[in-house]
Amino acid sequence: MDKTTNDNIVRATAANGQIRVFTADTHDLVEAARQAHDTSPVVTAALGRLLTAGAMMGAMMKGDDDLLTLQIRGNGPMKGLTVTADANGNVKGYPLVPDVIIPAKPAASEGAVRKLDVSGAVGEGVLSVIRDMGLKDPYVGQVALQTGEISEDLTYYFAASEQIPSSVGLGVLMNRDNTVRRAGGFIIQLMPFCEESLISRLEEKLGKMPPVTTLLDEGRNAEGLLEYILGDFSPEINDTLPVRFYCNCDKKRVEKALISIGKKELDNIIKDGKDIELKCHFCNKAYNFTIDEVKRIASEAS
Ligand SMILES: [Zn+2]
Repeated sequence: MDKTTNDNIVRATAANGQIRVFTADTHDLVEAARQAHDTSPVVTAALGRLLTAGAMMGAMMKGDDDLLTLQIRGNGPMKGLTVTADANGNVKGYPLVPDVIIPAKPAASEGAVRKLDVSGAVGEGVLSVIRDMGLKDPYVGQVALQTGEISEDLTYYFAASEQIPSSVGLGVLMNRDNTVRRAGGFIIQLMPFCEESLISRLEEKLGKMPPVTTLLDEGRNAEGLLEYILGDFSPEINDTLPVRFYCNCDKKRVEKALISIGKKELDNIIKDGKDIELKCHFCNKAYNFTIDEVKRIASEAS
């Protein structure tokens, strides 16, 4: 999981700072998430989209300790997703139900590729955005899911909760063997002093654009996405940030989770007399606790 990746996020501005933009190539991190959670294709697509958004929104933060959490809870068979990201390109996440299988959507036109039904897996529900900047209370924004396709839901979140007109595009494309073929996306935001004529030009451009998966499958990386989408708007790259699927769990953290199940449950485990295995939600790494360790934890918990 620590291996170097080709994934990155480009942070840029365009039209003399009237547009702020993030573009992302997240193939490796979405594939790492797929392997960690053994997700079905529709869940890989849903989790991959939210991880891609999380990585870009993490890159909007400044502090080393700042933490962004994106959470979706829905009444669909996947039940929900949680993603967290920091400002330094580390992102992780998990689905509540990793193995959902539902039919793909009917093809939009004859011969077109059938799309995975992400909104069907998510259902109706809420999107929460939590920004913990080390202040006493974290910032929490919550909106009702609009489509469950995730990009539209985030576009709505930025407009409704942060009053920032934005356009969010997220895409995950699978190979025939259900590994990840392409993943990436963009977030475009208009600054308050943006000119009306610029807004209509941008809307026209975005309206005519093919899906993100198509742009990625034509071989574009994060920089290529920026050039394609905003090439006519004098884009200026501020920097490029490597991003990866990374979990900072260790046995000590998992031990805290074990303590939190309570004395009674711990006593039951001790009664059973068998070693136990606990898995980290975010990365599925397994941690073993011997019965002697459980006894020690139980005595410290009481
Ligand atoms: Zn972990």
